[in-house]
Amino acid sequence: MYRYAKLGPVDFATYDTPVEVRQVEGKGRGLFTNKSVKCGELLACEKAFSYVCASEKGSPDTSAAFGALINLTTNRVKIGTDAAHISNVYQKLIDNPSRAHSFLDSYHGTYEPGPETNEDGTPIVDSFLIERIVSLNAFGCPVTSKDQELSRKQAGEISTSSGIWPLAAYINHSCIANCARTFIGDMMIMRATQDIPRNTEITWCYHDPTNRVDLQKSLLENWGFKCTCPVCTEEGFTGKDIKAQRNKYLAILNSTHKAEDTLFGQLNQLYGPPAKEVPRFEVFLACYKAAMYWLLSDFNLTLMLRFTKKALEALGFEIEGINESGGGKLVVRKRGAPVPELPRLWQISMMAWKAKGQFKLAEAAKKHLKMAYLVVVAGEDETFKEDYDLTIKNAFLGGIRKKN
Ligand SMILES: [Zn+2]
Repeated sequence: MYRYAKLGPVDFATYDTPVEVRQVEGKGRGLFTNKSVKCGELLACEKAFSYVCASEKGSPDTSAAFGALINLTTNRVKIGTDAAHISNVYQKLIDNPSRAHSFLDSYHGTYEPGPETNEDGTPIVDSFLIERIVSLNAFGCPVTSKDQELSRKQAGEISTSSGIWPLAAYINHSCIANCARTFIGDMMIMRATQDIPRNTEITWCYHDPTNRVDLQKSLLENWGFKCTCPVCTEEGFTGKDIKAQRNKYLAILNSTHKAEDTLFGQLNQLYGPPAKEVPRFEVFLACYKAAMYWLLSDFNLTLMLRFTKKALEALGFEIEGINESGGGKLVVRKRGAPVPELPRLWQISMMAWKAKGQFKLAEAAKKHLKMAYLVVVAGEDETFKEDYDLTIKNAFLGGIRKKN
């Protein structure tokens, strides 16, 4: 599909067999599994209802996606892809009223829509309703997730396309997501990031879950709710003193990148529930940075392995069977939160084990790298080999996501 995306909109239809829309108490509607699904399995692959593809910044094509639309009632001005979506959607609803329901059923906040048809049965296209739905449901995306993740560019430099995917819009937020999305042109690919039982709500993160400072504010300002997932609930219960002590130890970790057992012991005492139940995103970030530090500074294999394992555990992974000195057999009992750094963590582990001559462990890490690539990077694994070959030349590690 990646190769088709280079030629414009992708010629594939929506697939959504294992999921269905249901009511969720207190949250409106949500998407649920109607059968059990394995990690990596496709939950849905949805074609955008409206898609505005603009090229990267500075390209002459960019101007095609931009326009301006003024709503005289609300005094809101829409500039850019939102304005293009409104005219796209308007035309589509007039030309093809049979597709109207899937779009008009989307979340539209407090706006009260009028009747859908005239007295003679002809459809009424409510442009104010379209504007509200576009405003609440359209979002920016890369032309392909893979190119964004593997390039050296930061999200804001490359996300110039935007789309509306009505089925995906039913997915509610949780900081501990069980689904990840990737984009290939106008197709959104949603895959399970862990084994999901039947009748489970599908969730993903509307906001970077590792950015704990802005998360609640962003959710409230952009979508009008606060997250009550186990991570956010634990955060709410934790006193300022405990948070200050955690930050003290994390600052030491961030400045020394040393994996002292005593420090981790003290840090551990400052948390209630285990990380496999409530991920510790701030600990993950510190350990991820440390793993990267030891990779890039002096290729310290022991510390690369120790910190990648600690980073994965902080995300909620349960990993067994690794013996740092003498090999072992890698077993992942439970998968944790699907952050964009996952492929890099597995890649560092793979490189370190390979360098230590522990080829079975390196091969096991490669399988997890491939899974992470499928789920959070590319949406499909057909291109894994070419990108994996590039990683040997350091291209993959070149795009290290910068975190403060
Ligand atoms: Zn949360």
